[in-house]
Amino acid sequence: MPTEPHQHPDPRSLPVTTLNGIGAQSAARLEKLGIRHVQDLLFHLPLRYQDRSRITPLNQLLPGMTVLVCGRVEFTDQIQRGRNSVICRIADGGGELSLRFFHFSVQQSQQLKPGVQIGCFGEIRYGFAGLEMVHPEYRLVDDPTQLIEQTLTPVYPLTEGVSQSAIRKAARQALSLCLHSRDAIKDWLPAELLQSRDYPSLQDALHTLHSPPPQLSAQILSGTPLPALRRLAFEEFLAHHLALLQGKQAYKQWPAPALSLDGQTKQAFLAALPFRLTAAQQRVAAEIEADCRQNRPMLRLVQGDVGSGKTVVAALAALAALASGYQTAIMAPTELLSEQHFRNFTHWFADLPTRVLFLSGQLKGKTRQQTLQALADGSAGIVIGTHALFQDSVHFHKLGLIVIDEQHRFGVHQRLALREKGQTGGLRPHQLIMTATPIPRTLAMLQYSDLDISVIDELPPGRKPVATSAISSERRADVIGRIEHWVAQQRQAYWVCTLIEESEVLQCEAAEKTAAALRQALPKVRIGLVHGRMKSAEKDAVMQAFKNRECDLLVATTVIEVGVDVPNAGLMVIENPERLGLSQLHQLRGRVGRGNQDSYCLLLYQAPLSQTGKQRLAILKQSNDGFVIAEKDLELRGPGEVMGTRQTGQIQFKIADLERDRELLESIPAAAQTIVQHHPEIIQPLIDRWIGRSRHYAEV
Ligand code: ADP
Ligand code: MG
Repeated sequence: MPTEPHQHPDPRSLPVTTLNGIGAQSAARLEKLGIRHVQDLLFHLPLRYQDRSRITPLNQLLPGMTVLVCGRVEFTDQIQRGRNSVICRIADGGGELSLRFFHFSVQQSQQLKPGVQIGCFGEIRYGFAGLEMVHPEYRLVDDPTQLIEQTLTPVYPLTEGVSQSAIRKAARQALSLCLHSRDAIKDWLPAELLQSRDYPSLQDALHTLHSPPPQLSAQILSGTPLPALRRLAFEEFLAHHLALLQGKQAYKQWPAPALSLDGQTKQAFLAALPFRLTAAQQRVAAEIEADCRQNRPMLRLVQGDVGSGKTVVAALAALAALASGYQTAIMAPTELLSEQHFRNFTHWFADLPTRVLFLSGQLKGKTRQQTLQALADGSAGIVIGTHALFQDSVHFHKLGLIVIDEQHRFGVHQRLALREKGQTGGLRPHQLIMTATPIPRTLAMLQYSDLDISVIDELPPGRKPVATSAISSERRADVIGRIEHWVAQQRQAYWVCTLIEESEVLQCEAAEKTAAALRQALPKVRIGLVHGRMKSAEKDAVMQAFKNRECDLLVATTVIEVGVDVPNAGLMVIENPERLGLSQLHQLRGRVGRGNQDSYCLLLYQAPLSQTGKQRLAILKQSNDGFVIAEKDLELRGPGEVMGTRQTGQIQFKIADLERDRELLESIPAAAQTIVQHHPEIIQPLIDRWIGRSRHYAEV
């Protein structure tokens, strides 16, 4: 029967307090779960279900079952053996069961008198007196059919102060509200899409998930996601993908400075380099040049394995900006890496009429003032630094290009936030993002679909793969011997200490201890130490000494993961490699093999290794290709781990789960294309539903 819209107010804006049993206090608590409106409750899905749709006879019970049973009390007795407890024996004519309580009130013992009939729900286990249920939910009943529920019972994620029964009741009301009116909660997905994927409508999906019919019990138990759940996860992935696409489109509407690079300047720059660009570098540089010539901002990601030479490609883009009278800001995730870029750029731009400056959070006082001044008045054409570059105190004269190196260290939100910075005179800067972490294609769709992608799929000539071997820590002495031998041949080496904790303090401590131990074991070897808690000047001095061959072995934490470039250092020991992701190990290993001599990586693992651990290290031995490694890592560890805790600002999903719903990812881009072409009107509603009107994605 059609209903008037005003009789069913919009559950998107209807506060939960309109539901029976939800007062101001519960509402405040529910907000912790992100539930504010009636609609939010609908998308707050059960974690699991209980089956109270039938009563299991007591003679059919097996340990491990979670069941509804019914019987009459035979006796209730105090047990003194072990922990004090109360046993209540029930029987249903066919069999018996003990209920065990460790907390028991006088009131309860009065209730559980011999002869009364009770229904119980709980898990069956073996106890002293045969099968038992510990602290079951129970209630007295006259008629056992009163116990039976028509649907499976949802178990919701809770927050302190809100009971399961309260949230169940609220969810039931929300559901009936939304099911009363087809328009109350609109199904935005086109019918043909639902049909082609065999998905239920939104109403049906929500109904099934909040109160599944008992027939679904087996499927739910088997762990196979219901089509209803798949459908919601699909819609959520789709919404995120559309949001990124929309963000890109919105950004591309802004005017940007058209940057052009004249042939002469470019030739002079290239001629001064000590190498020729690879074909892949040339191709990607041309793609960037073409983007920058437009008066719409570039949004381009350059993926290229460690050592593929991304930096010089970025330098060419900076050259185009400079030649057109615009500034470039280059951001790297660590001080060490930005300092290294700073040295490279200073060198490359030495003959050009501009200044290259360095800016980090550690820069203080007068130097900082002068740096800020030079950026504001435009006398500095290029600035390199950490995220300090984008603090409010930094103003650019005419920023034309932003380069973000090693993007995987920055989250998607950070990247998007940067877009809002650095506009001058209504113009938005071009953006170039560089990463060595090849995100597998299916994940890139959620991470990078707001970017155009270029790939540098070729290493400079003469590079040899790093010979990698895994060695048990029991053979640590051999490894130390190998370093001694190596250094005797005038070569240098790294020793990388890792810890599973993200704690920098502990990492640094470990590195200090290792350095001390190695100094004892190798008195002739000059050993340097660099870690994240050293002052940047200290780090710089150590790195510089290493580069100048004033030290032979550099003990380091994973701070050297990105960028550090010392061609004579051809041997790397990585301690506890089993603790790191494969892509990260590959990055670390990329520090060696920079010259044209043979190079080695020794993975000094802690025995015994798990089966997966072995497989993972074997992949590193077999492959030197970052893309292959990332795909294998995805297979072995799953997307959650690969996208990883190391990345800040990861996308949070309400319902979708990268692990469980991984197979959906493949189909998202095509579905999104169809929607963009044929149903553009549903894009915004979908984004609103799943992401809200957050400015993270869709910049206005
Ligand atoms: P990454 O892609 O890992 O950032 P870099 O830009 O740091 O790589 O380059 C790695 C090293 O290779 C640097 O020493 C750089 O000068 C050098 N290099 C870059 N391009 C070439 C090339 N075409 N031929 C030879 N060496 C190159
Ligand atoms: Mg790099």
